[in-house]
Amino acid sequence: MTDDRKKLGFGTMRLPLLHEGDQKSIDLKQVSEMVDRFLDRGFTYFDTAYPYHEEQSEVAVRKCLVERYDRDRFLLADKMPLFQVNRAEDYERIFREQLQKCGVTYFDYYLLHNLGSDRYGKTIELGGFEFVSRMKKEGYIRKMGFSFHDSAELLERILTEHPEVDFVQLQINYLDWESPVAQSRLCYETATRHGKPVVVMEPVKGGTLATLPERAMQVLRQAEVAGLDGEMQPKGGGSGSDTGLAYSPASYAVRYAASLKNVFMVLSGMSDLAQLDDNTSYMQEFVPLSEKEQAALAKVTDIMNETIDIPCTSCRYCMEECPMNIHIPAYFGLYNLYKVTGKKTNMYYQRYSMEHGKASECIKCGKCERICPQHIPIREQLVRFVELYES
Ligand code: SF4
Ligand code: SF4
Repeated sequence: MTDDRKKLGFGTMRLPLLHEGDQKSIDLKQVSEMVDRFLDRGFTYFDTAYPYHEEQSEVAVRKCLVERYDRDRFLLADKMPLFQVNRAEDYERIFREQLQKCGVTYFDYYLLHNLGSDRYGKTIELGGFEFVSRMKKEGYIRKMGFSFHDSAELLERILTEHPEVDFVQLQINYLDWESPVAQSRLCYETATRHGKPVVVMEPVKGGTLATLPERAMQVLRQAEVAGLDGEMQPKGGGSGSDTGLAYSPASYAVRYAASLKNVFMVLSGMSDLAQLDDNTSYMQEFVPLSEKEQAALAKVTDIMNETIDIPCTSCRYCMEECPMNIHIPAYFGLYNLYKVTGKKTNMYYQRYSMEHGKASECIKCGKCERICPQHIPIREQLVRFVELYES
């Protein structure tokens, strides 16, 4: 679908800001420079979406990319915000608005944004798949797909019922690969079985895998000292030098995702020139992870998992009981991750709590605890989670 050696996509959901906290104040000058360097280095794929930067990401893409380069120099992906679609007519209205905001006459890649169990039925009912198919037939879309954060079981169902989609966008990273909640491996295998190429989002798990605990860093340092078969030599500009590593921790996470055969693009939310330099340095002449690197990451994953605080196995039994539809295992996963890395992943919490009850909405009925095979004091743990994520 694209140049296999240039599997890095420019995500525009965390662009540099002029004023901290003001998502609309995108630093257009810096973004333009980032776009220039990205294209200069041979990369082409840009990813935006309606809600990013409080609906200003698409505008920034127009100003920094579309108005400054010929349309055939880049590939642009955009997404239909399903959470804003309440009537069938909304699809057409929003789509036209997106073309206008981006300043283009077509999208190379177009996705139904965050298709999950809660939205799938409504999307079918309102004709979402028919709409994107029609836009594709009329030449407004080159490839149609959807982004997905749900179970492999649902993905199997969607791909069986909608074989017309060209690709899927999945959350894949080495920590989530075997995770029963994210189901990265199972979802990847499902997409592959259906012959759908994959775009990877969150390869660094919202930045979590960019800063590892010291024990995990030690594993990577030792692997580098032992030699990585000389398969990848450090390039100027991007390195993990301030960490004592030849390559940044994030580079291992991005290359992990890009090493999967059926992955044609790995998105990285570019937040400044330094990050762009780092990403492009090791993705310009992409080399898949060697066996030694894979083994080192397996150890890193074990270390991360060992330090887990709440022994939740993500069996989801509690979710079937919860009257408030709280995604207990996902929230416990976020809590554990914080304990390991010391970093909060607010973006993940927002995403889960858009479709499920917030942790603070627990009414303390105790139904979940009666069924939990791990005997976890769920109510008590949710209070700790609320203190961390909602206060
Ligand atoms: S105690 Fe809270 S989390 Fe557990 S089932 Fe009741 S509402 Fe849901
Ligand atoms: S029932 Fe217990 S172990 Fe299973 S997902 Fe819920 S909290 Fe986790």
